[in-house]
Amino acid sequence: MSAPADTGAPPAARRPVPREACPSLVAPMATGDGLIARLLPADGELTVAALAAIAAAAARCGNGVVEVTQRGSLQVRGLSAATAADLEHAVHAAGASPPAGPPVHVGPLAGHDPAEIADPRPLAAMLRMRLAAAVTAASPAKLAIVVDGGGDLGLDGLAADLRLVAVRTDGATAWRLETDDGPISPPLATAEAVAAAGDFVAGLDRSRRRRPRPRVPVAPVGVLLPVGWGGDAIAVGVVVPYGFTDAGLLSALATAAGQAGAETVRLAPGHGLVFVGTGAGMARDSRDGAGASGRSVSGGVTDASSPAGDRAPQSCGFSPAVLLAAAANLGFIARRNDPRLALSVCAGAPVCGSGEAPTRPLADAVVAAAAPLIAAGGSVHLTGCAKGCARAAPADLTIVGRAGGYGLVRDGRAGDVPVEVVARDALLAAVALVRGDG
Ligand code: SF4
Repeated sequence: MSAPADTGAPPAARRPVPREACPSLVAPMATGDGLIARLLPADGELTVAALAAIAAAAARCGNGVVEVTQRGSLQVRGLSAATAADLEHAVHAAGASPPAGPPVHVGPLAGHDPAEIADPRPLAAMLRMRLAAAVTAASPAKLAIVVDGGGDLGLDGLAADLRLVAVRTDGATAWRLETDDGPISPPLATAEAVAAAGDFVAGLDRSRRRRPRPRVPVAPVGVLLPVGWGGDAIAVGVVVPYGFTDAGLLSALATAAGQAGAETVRLAPGHGLVFVGTGAGMARDSRDGAGASGRSVSGGVTDASSPAGDRAPQSCGFSPAVLLAAAANLGFIARRNDPRLALSVCAGAPVCGSGEAPTRPLADAVVAAAAPLIAAGGSVHLTGCAKGCARAAPADLTIVGRAGGYGLVRDGRAGDVPVEVVARDALLAAVALVRGDG
């Protein structure tokens, strides 16, 4: 993708956006630690070299904090108006420019997963062009569109205003439009589905948008299935703990991924980075570890702790074991049983200007304190205020920052009434008392 002509002047669109809209690369949003820019390349895919280049640019242009959001977008924090322009140029130069229009999400294994009903990427490309024209000033400031081709890492866990879902009809593949209220179209051919989706979006009114139903995506961790039965592509998922990391660590991960043989990376829901490469030997290893069918039984993911994850590569090419070991050494989540996966955390104060209490510095300590709850399969949400940006769905325990302390909500959301309010220095002791049985 080519870079736009550089006029030498900051374009008007690069001005910070109002808080009700989403930040983007060309229109970053002001927050507590400067401007924040969000980008989602087409299909969430970029080369490993581009990821390294963007990490380097984030270190140079921002405050060093990089995020992979719950929806699978990349965010760079701590920018100024001038450095935001530098970051934008760096992203274009890396060939990772986000397409125009609202973000259209496809699954992280789209086009590779033999279990998917249809490759969603061609339809998504057509849809992006259609939506770039369909979205107007009257359209909702936030719009979530999902094109779900099915497969082991489908997008059921991603909330959306509109879903285009692949279905099989009489042996053929078609697309059905759905909202949270159910199907809104019969199965349609690709072009018809794109047209119908464009009409749907064009008819949305900013003032009447209903929030999509909250969902929680599955984090893609470990050696994913051998995704190319007809070829030799394999994929490995790594999760960014709590969704944020240091640009230097991300750069080191990209370097390690390249050395392990990965070629591309897909940004994935659940703060994920799915690295894809080729290596016939490791594809055989993964298939052996997953069983005779070649598919594991738990969300299509073979854990890094499984025989496939630990086995040394037999031939050259992409080595999942090497990448996962490097990722774990750098502090990224490489195993599905990592307790950090149970905690949803927002930016909190002072990173977020609306935060009433800190969150991220407490994350590891909260996970440790909540070990009994997490071991019982419980979920924890740590939020800097009652808005609850990190998790719209209920959690077994929600810790809500407020002036002077934290409220504890059981089996609810950030905006619910807390059963207890504790001072900051009493928080961890209170969390440790919470068990999974309520
Ligand atoms: S929940 Fe509150 S503190 Fe956390 S990111 Fe959202 S607005 Fe900021």
